[in-house]
Amino acid sequence: MIFNTVSINPEFIKFYFQFGINAKAMQEEIFKLNYWNPLNYCGKKRLDDSPYGGGRGMILSYPPMKKIMLEIQKKNTKMNLNNSISVLMSPQGKLLNKKLTNELINFECINIISSRYEGLDQRFINECIDLEVSIGNYVLSSGELPLLILIDSLVRLLPNAIGNQNEFHYDSFDSLLLGYPQYTRPQTVNNQNVPEILLSGNLSQIHQWKKEQSFFKTLITRPDLIYDVGLSEKEYNYLLFLKNYLVYKNWG
Ligand code: SAH
Repeated sequence: MIFNTVSINPEFIKFYFQFGINAKAMQEEIFKLNYWNPLNYCGKKRLDDSPYGGGRGMILSYPPMKKIMLEIQKKNTKMNLNNSISVLMSPQGKLLNKKLTNELINFECINIISSRYEGLDQRFINECIDLEVSIGNYVLSSGELPLLILIDSLVRLLPNAIGNQNEFHYDSFDSLLLGYPQYTRPQTVNNQNVPEILLSGNLSQIHQWKKEQSFFKTLITRPDLIYDVGLSEKEYNYLLFLKNYLVYKNWG
């Protein structure tokens, strides 16, 4: 998978990808990052300018941004990358969640634009952006962190990016539920033991236990996710009753 990152701070992005599974996956060419810096496409003009109609701050102007997108398109065409999408990181975008990452992972190439100041000239967005993506209902000062979050969340889903593909693995939000609790050595800490079942070696029972734990954890901390599955009101109310019972029993 190829990510074309558009940012005036490529160093910030490069730094992040020097670590952990991202660095390993990049070395193994599971994905590739390209860096496009709008400052190199301004010529003698400014990258930003004040907004028409007044208002606080500066706006990234159309010409250099458009120039960059044309260059990216040219390069993508040369490399026969037809299945690509251009995404703008924006607090006004579609909220990033597992469903969206599952959709985006199907593209061969994602062009991701990180903006800053007060945003981008709307005419650039109209012409060059297929999708605006938000990482949450709050506003950051620039799009680099959101861009990193998007790429990181996608790299995790790429085949062979993490560990052994044949092992049972379950992340939070796979099948809409949260993950199950995890343990590692030592077996006992401060009078707390690892649940017996995980030591049993019985893979099907362990698998079942993990599924149940995911369900209970979701029910207790994020019942809204279970509601999203499309239960009737009666079913949902029953689950809330069950949740209160579990809390009463000190389960969660
Ligand atoms: N004035 C703009 C906010 C600009 S914040 C508005 O009201 O919508 C500057 C840049 O940071 C944005 O253009 C975007 O690229 C990035 N950014 C800030 N918050 C974000 C969020 N929640 N999700 C994704 N990108 C965000």
